[in-house]
Amino acid sequence: MPDVFARMQFNRRRVLASLIGSGPLAALSIGGAAAVGGSDTAPKVAQSSAGYRPAPREGQACAGCYAFVAPDHCKFLAGEISPSGWCRLWKAKPD
Ligand code: SF4
Repeated sequence: MPDVFARMQFNRRRVLASLIGSGPLAALSIGGAAAVGGSDTAPKVAQSSAGYRPAPREGQACAGCYAFVAPDHCKFLAGEISPSGWCRLWKAKPD
């Protein structure tokens, strides 16, 4: 019986890891773990939780992300961001 429980625990970790690695579910997961208050909208996540950095990555930048709110905010992250920044939630704006 201990092997069954060990396997169940291992499978649970794999499922959680795969869910966290996917786009929208990653946002939900991060929000549940580190949501911070926003005064004007729904709670947003801390920049560090999404791996935000003030520089682009591999040609991707906040200005080209669907969550970018000009001039310096994000639909998901708390605080000001740079249009040249990037985080793990990046997704291209629709054409
Ligand atoms: S990449 Fe997108 S989701 Fe991430 S901080 Fe920039 S605008 Fe927000």
